[in-house]
Amino acid sequence: MSIIQKTATEQLALLNSGELTSVELTQAYLNQIEQVDGQVGAFLRVETESALAQAAAIDQKRATEAPLGKLAGLPVAIKDILCTKDTPTTCGSRMLENFQPPYNATVVEKIRAADGVILGRTNMDEFAMGSSTENSAYQTTQNPWDTARIPGGSSGGAAACVSADMAPLSVGTDTGGSIRQPAALCGCVGLKPTYGRVSRYGLIAFASSLDQIGPLARTVEDTALLLEVLAGHDPLDSTSVKQPTPAYSETVKQPLENLTLGVVDRHFGAGIDPEIETAVQSAIQVYESLGATIKHIAMPHADYGIATYYIIAPCEASSNLARYDGAHYGYRTDQAEVVAELAEDGSDEGPLVRMYRKTRSEGFGEEVQRRIMLGTYALSEGYYDAFYLKALKVRRLIRQDYDAAFEEVDMIIGPVTANPAFAQGEKTSDPMAMYLEDLYTVTANLAGVAGISLPCGFTSSGLPIGLQLQAAPFQEEKLLRAAQMYQAATDFHTRRPELS
Ligand code: GLN
Repeated sequence: MSIIQKTATEQLALLNSGELTSVELTQAYLNQIEQVDGQVGAFLRVETESALAQAAAIDQKRATEAPLGKLAGLPVAIKDILCTKDTPTTCGSRMLENFQPPYNATVVEKIRAADGVILGRTNMDEFAMGSSTENSAYQTTQNPWDTARIPGGSSGGAAACVSADMAPLSVGTDTGGSIRQPAALCGCVGLKPTYGRVSRYGLIAFASSLDQIGPLARTVEDTALLLEVLAGHDPLDSTSVKQPTPAYSETVKQPLENLTLGVVDRHFGAGIDPEIETAVQSAIQVYESLGATIKHIAMPHADYGIATYYIIAPCEASSNLARYDGAHYGYRTDQAEVVAELAEDGSDEGPLVRMYRKTRSEGFGEEVQRRIMLGTYALSEGYYDAFYLKALKVRRLIRQDYDAAFEEVDMIIGPVTANPAFAQGEKTSDPMAMYLEDLYTVTANLAGVAGISLPCGFTSSGLPIGLQLQAAPFQEEKLLRAAQMYQAATDFHTRRPELS
């Protein structure tokens, strides 16, 4: 078995015993990227030189017997939405094509402090808006299991690079499913932490009341390791919660006793792919055979999740994206063209307003413009109460559904997506179909609870299927232990895609 096929936890043991150096490991991943990323397109930028330099510095530190951080030389890929000082951070948008943040995101600092090696920046839907990574302004990403299909989104690059062994660990973000859905479609593990668990300082904001940063990896253990590094209170993010971070990687292998899992019957039936339904039902049986009790629970407001999310997320996006105006930073249209155009069309629109309008029309892609318009509309006078306030009320009801469910059960078990990875281009002209991709994932964000996606099967054509577990706020430790119980009893996570 080549070194990149081993799990991060196995690699860590080899690094710590001195059998492997960080430079060797980093180089092995760089070679794999060189070999397969032409077919996958997971990376927007591979940071070869700085990755090798970081790895060499960590190896040197090890040679002096200085204590190493938890990642001890493991490479990590980063979604291109996290600010890294003096290096490009594009958010998948033309708007930020030449943007070099003046500071690092807290999670980037934490990875470096834990002696992780930053391998490069992964592709994503522009400003994290999308479910297929087709909304990136730069490139599409192919699903490693079938390159004619999408990897999911918006963290499509983050999931595809792990799935195709181009990185052992990667960092994504999840506003409505963007970690869990691509993890499911690419056959890896992805965890959306509780709102407040991970600092978002330096995360380019999409919808601030929903956004969370989280880990993707091939196994639950590896996911636990990376979450342990990412999580924790940060004085620079007032929404991060002052709670100690449990030692997830140390407890992840302890099975849970008396586990009670809730099944929402409405998750099944109309609309779900029968092969997904079968795989998820068999996963539920695996839990039963491991001693879990299954209870049927009602989530009466879950059906309104999509409608609620697609009001709240665009409203917040329209406000957050107002900062990209061409005056402060990011893309700016050609000023001379603005002046020439105004002279020609004789409009009484002032040059400043025209500059804003042209900048935003040229800098933002179609989906981002659609979200800004939806959000601006729903927040405008006369519609605010009817749409935005109403959505906030329904959001509260959804949270109450979760609170009631977690009185009865420890976790909720169900599907991540209703269908496996679809063909490139299949849903690009149908925004509604694309939005429905998030059916099973958005409610966790609306309620702020934690969720994990893990491999639970394959379709007859060989596409991965994901299983979702959701837990009450700040129960990531239990969530990981429950996920590990399933993973230890199954081998879906060991299958690899075949790329030539
Ligand atoms: N697909 C959802 C959207 O487009 C979720 C995206 C996300 O989680 N960043 O809004």
